[in-house]
Amino acid sequence: MSKLFDTQALGKPRRHVRSATGYFPETDATGKEKWPRGDEETWKAGLRSVDADVNDITKSIVHHIQTSLARQAYNIDNLGAYQATALAAREDLIINWNQTQMTYTRKQPKRAYYLSLEFLMGRTLDNALLNLGLKEKFETGLDKLGFTLEDVLDSERDAALGNGGLGRLAACYVDSGATCEIPLWGYGLRYHYGMFQQLIAPDGSQLEAPDPWLDNSNPWEIPRLDVTADVRFGGHAEKLDKGRGIWSGGQEVLAVAYDCPIPGSDTKSTNNIRFWSARPRRGFDLQSFNAGDYDRAVETSNSAANITNVLYPNDNHYAGKSLRLQQQYFWCAASLSDIMRRFKNTGQPISEFPNHVVIQLNDTHPTLAIPELMRILVDEEEVPWDDAWQIVTRTFAFTNHTVLPEALEKWPVSLFQQLLPRHLQIIYDLNWTFLQSVERKFPGDVDKMARMSLIEEGHGQQIRMANLAVLGSFKVNGVAELHSELVRTTILKDFVDFFGVDKFRNVTNGITPRRWLDQCNPALSNLITETLGSRAWLKDLYLLKGLLEHESDPTFQKKWAAAKANNKERLAKYIKNTLGVTVDSKAMFDIQVKRIHEYKRQSLNILGVIHRYLTIKAMSPEERTKVTPRVVLFAGKAAPGYWMAKLIIRLIVNVGKVINADPDAKGILTVLFLPDYSVSLAELLIPASDISEHISTAGTEASGTSNMKFCLNGGLLLGTVDGANIEIAEEVGEENVFFFGHLTPAVEELRYQHRYHPMPVEKKSPALAAVLEDIMSGRYGDASIWEPFVNTIRQGDYYLISDDFDSYLQAQKMVDEAYTKDPQQWIKKSIQTTAKMGKFSSDRAIMTYAEEIWNIETLKIN
Ligand SMILES: *Cc1c(COP(=O)(O)O)cnc(C)c1O
Repeated sequence: MSKLFDTQALGKPRRHVRSATGYFPETDATGKEKWPRGDEETWKAGLRSVDADVNDITKSIVHHIQTSLARQAYNIDNLGAYQATALAAREDLIINWNQTQMTYTRKQPKRAYYLSLEFLMGRTLDNALLNLGLKEKFETGLDKLGFTLEDVLDSERDAALGNGGLGRLAACYVDSGATCEIPLWGYGLRYHYGMFQQLIAPDGSQLEAPDPWLDNSNPWEIPRLDVTADVRFGGHAEKLDKGRGIWSGGQEVLAVAYDCPIPGSDTKSTNNIRFWSARPRRGFDLQSFNAGDYDRAVETSNSAANITNVLYPNDNHYAGKSLRLQQQYFWCAASLSDIMRRFKNTGQPISEFPNHVVIQLNDTHPTLAIPELMRILVDEEEVPWDDAWQIVTRTFAFTNHTVLPEALEKWPVSLFQQLLPRHLQIIYDLNWTFLQSVERKFPGDVDKMARMSLIEEGHGQQIRMANLAVLGSFKVNGVAELHSELVRTTILKDFVDFFGVDKFRNVTNGITPRRWLDQCNPALSNLITETLGSRAWLKDLYLLKGLLEHESDPTFQKKWAAAKANNKERLAKYIKNTLGVTVDSKAMFDIQVKRIHEYKRQSLNILGVIHRYLTIKAMSPEERTKVTPRVVLFAGKAAPGYWMAKLIIRLIVNVGKVINADPDAKGILTVLFLPDYSVSLAELLIPASDISEHISTAGTEASGTSNMKFCLNGGLLLGTVDGANIEIAEEVGEENVFFFGHLTPAVEELRYQHRYHPMPVEKKSPALAAVLEDIMSGRYGDASIWEPFVNTIRQGDYYLISDDFDSYLQAQKMVDEAYTKDPQQWIKKSIQTTAKMGKFSSDRAIMTYAEEIWNIETLKIN
């Protein structure tokens, strides 16, 4: 037996083991805790009270203006006021954070770690003040100092360390973890540049500018310059006996921790996201420096810091860049070294690791954590190979986020050989044993073995990260019922046959109602609280059902409609200020905001808009007065290398220009593309929607989360039978959603038809053919610009635009009629929708992870 499996050898928990997150208190002979340092009373008196009144708050803000910013009443502006306010609020967060981490260290609960390469946080101040219950006091305090809270909140930059849904999900989950009092930490990367800023050129093209979000400094992060990890790249790996190896040489990069406190709502429980930043290990390469090669010396230092320079802007698309693999390993290695250090501080034998630690892999991005933990256990801790694999496979759980083939990560073996030679050996060894067991279970099924192998053969071998993630995890989940079913029956079917279906689960995504209703929609939130008599619904979203009692009350309906009108006016004001365009806030607001992607089919929406425009053009002035006025809003970023997505943006912008300038459409149709979609823009748009569009080709959208945000805010849903749309309809009632389009089982057959028995669009959908013809007429700019787009529909039509177009128009017609014919019924639908969205709280999702996957308990912080 290895000495590391020997409890006796490791003995009892060490005393006074200091780490950045706490220490073990020393006890005297009677078991009473000893104060660790200096005079206890002096220490305790030094802690600021957390139940501050307005006076304490203004004092704290003024104190920070004067001593942190070195400014005064004479020269303080909104940005400065924001910074001082953030520093004041942060004190409360940190006091709770300390208490929480101290409790974890003392009680040693099992902890969950959420590894996510993206955290799309948005702004923090408003959320922090609400969660601390201090918003009103800060508002009053700022008012006394001559600022409005609104201006101050608006001065904060978004932390956009994510692309879209996956990154926002991670942010919602840490919020829920803290609120539900679960010992949950996030681990991520501290990118110097977050998601690019999107600019729209006069011709409608997307331009990208860097996002230097740290330029004004970030008051929400606590640098932990003493919490570091060495991360090796390159060098060579040597194999010893019994699966062990030695990895040496290459280049070492230093990971430095930055902590970001995550407050729960109405609880002291305050969790953490630890973001790693890369630093060169030794400032300079001294050898090159001494040789007089200054440029080269600095180059080494640049290349190390480069690792955390920038977030990759691809959503649902794998690009295979070497620096991206370096980011992934850097982050996994630093996080595991940190987790291992914390575990060892408990004094438990290593065999206890999976009883104290569970690691959730957010997509395949952190899959390298699996071979890395193997490497630590086998090479460094000298745990026998099979025992180590037992530990690993009881530690990890994996969330799959997509079935799109272009999104599945596969790294060239040659790249591993160069950067991670030891991990490559470990993966080969794991694969060898694994394929033998596949052969035993399915003798002679060589195709199955080829499909399940961790290595894809072909022109240059590639490592299949999803296969590795499944092999190394004890549970695998999809993110909505339909998606989890597709995972089980398509991309991971072989693995279900091999491991049994029990390993494969569903956890439908969720959103935090704190940010996505209370914070972004005060008008509706206040009405709900007033109606239900308390704010308890924010922590038990099913309580929204109580609104159903009032659905037919005309006074309540009026107030409900007034809240929506208020949010539409707020958005109209923003549009006026930013684009200089006046929109009629009485019109129906029809919103589609999400990453621009062919599978999400913004194309279907804009083609439908053109159809609407042509219909209006063909009407008499008299007929036009009967049209339901619409404002159609788009927003979203295209990956900089995704040419077709950028062309779709360009089409939307140019179609908008023509329609918005046409007197025939005036007052009845406005089409706008709002640049630079972000969490903060989402917070403004979502409460203002009457209808929102979630119209992906069936079977392509894993879950979607903005569908949940819109419905929670009383916007109705127009969508395909896909992702979480299905479960939303189950909850709110199919009579309250507008569904259209082909279903998932039909998709494969339709694609087959397109390939082998294509039918001209003219025959399939004359309406669509007319729209395509209109585009090619030059009305929206030269036909040659749009030809490649039109061709994707005429030839192949992989996303089934032509198959779903007529059905989409039909659904839009029903939306128009429902909105115009019976406005009161529409309001009732809106109330019912919000009232029945309880299931989609991320609190429900995170508790499902805690209970069904992590086997972890909540821990109250006093
Ligand atoms: C919620 C959210 C998303 C995800 O939107 P989907 O429509 O589910 O793809 C993307 N970006 C931002 C800023 C979000 O808040």
